[in-house]
Amino acid sequence: MSESRRIIPILPAALPGVEAAHKVQARATSGRFTRWRWASLAATQLFFFGVPWLQWHGRQMVRFDLEAQRFYLGNLILLPQDLIFLTGLLVFCAMLLFAVTSVAGRLWCGFSCPQTVYTALFMWIERQFEGDRFRRVKLDRAPWSFDKLWRRGGKQASWVLISLWTGFTFVGWFTPIREMGLALVDRDLGFWNGFWTVFYAAFCYLNAGLLREKVCLHMCPYGRFQGALMDVDTLIVAYDVQRGEPRGAQARQAGGCIDCTMCVQVCPTGIDIRDGLQAACIACGLCIDACDAVMDKIDQPRGLVRLATQRQLAQELGSVATPWARHRVRVYVALMAALLGALVWSVSVRPAVRVDVIRDRGVMARVVEDGAVENVYRLQLMNQTDLPQRIELGVASLHGAVAQARTVVLGPVEDRQVHVSVRLDAQQAARLAGRTLALQWQVASRSDEGSSLVSEPTTFIVPR
Ligand code: SF4
Ligand code: SF4
Repeated sequence: MSESRRIIPILPAALPGVEAAHKVQARATSGRFTRWRWASLAATQLFFFGVPWLQWHGRQMVRFDLEAQRFYLGNLILLPQDLIFLTGLLVFCAMLLFAVTSVAGRLWCGFSCPQTVYTALFMWIERQFEGDRFRRVKLDRAPWSFDKLWRRGGKQASWVLISLWTGFTFVGWFTPIREMGLALVDRDLGFWNGFWTVFYAAFCYLNAGLLREKVCLHMCPYGRFQGALMDVDTLIVAYDVQRGEPRGAQARQAGGCIDCTMCVQVCPTGIDIRDGLQAACIACGLCIDACDAVMDKIDQPRGLVRLATQRQLAQELGSVATPWARHRVRVYVALMAALLGALVWSVSVRPAVRVDVIRDRGVMARVVEDGAVENVYRLQLMNQTDLPQRIELGVASLHGAVAQARTVVLGPVEDRQVHVSVRLDAQQAARLAGRTLALQWQVASRSDEGSSLVSEPTTFIVPR
């Protein structure tokens, strides 16, 4: 284990045992990883189901209004021109995922990924109706009876209800959820809101109820490239081969593996962690809880299956690298810090009003009364706040060009196009005939919460 940057070999998902298993019937377990998993499930679902109902200045606090092309994130209102912020945020999240994977393996998969979180929730519901592993396997084999019917029916009805609620909430991230809620009470949800609610509900039901671990095994791309993000200093869920083997009843007194298969029975993806790190392992840690419970029972130290790095397992304990000592972690952190800094800075200097200046091609530079020259501009003004803005338009010119003063009042998040002319007096026009002059539009805006000034460069044409 001398080469610290060597990536960890990961066994492919299509293991014979996994393929042969028709249906994974995971056993319930308890312990610290199970508790952390439920805590994470509670936190992520509180966020998903709760945030769309929060209000901010009389509107939904977070909403992605695709139809109006407005994204509301608290005080921040993003317009199509601000796509760069969302792109930056996505790149930051990707970097964060890479950094976390590099340090702690597939933490995201086991504790936060919607697929595994919902699968855990659906499996919990299944247990309430059909019992734990042994009873479910028995129920599977049993002929149809009233008992089987109501247990299966209750489970399916609960899954459908949760899926519909999930679909409704998901649509509520894009459509005013309070209005949707009232419309639902009036049984008038509307065709498209109803269609998308059912569509996402079906997606949720299919993934968490029917496909479950198959999504992780065969559809998730992240599981495929995790090996490239991990090295021998990455924390993984691992079986301690040196302590555990040879397995069997004779290993009981030595704290080795007694081959009870509890770690396999609790695994939601149906794999055996003793076969080594596998692409199908979502790092949920349930096999650690199961094995710790077994070790407690036979009065042996915990940790036969544990979170450890490959280097620790190889017992090069003196050379265990702290995350910060690793080059790849430093690079990720530096990139994230730079990206976050750039994002925070650009949001903090973002003006209340955005302006795009377009020369009005329909009206060329022209000579008006008294020999003055006039250019006409089209200004696209966008209020990027949810407060009314009073806007004063003016120009800064070295040659004395003057805007025909104009005041515009924009409502919250309103955009409007205005035509404004700029004039150069006859004496200057004669002196500068045939030249193109630099000009700055100055857009001063004022609202109840303050004022801002935006400058936008353009040109002024003086005809010959
Ligand atoms: S739970 Fe522990 S003792 Fe039992 S089979 Fe798994 S590794 Fe071996
Ligand atoms: S092997 Fe262990 S950590 Fe990996 S998915 Fe199965 S139970 Fe979870």
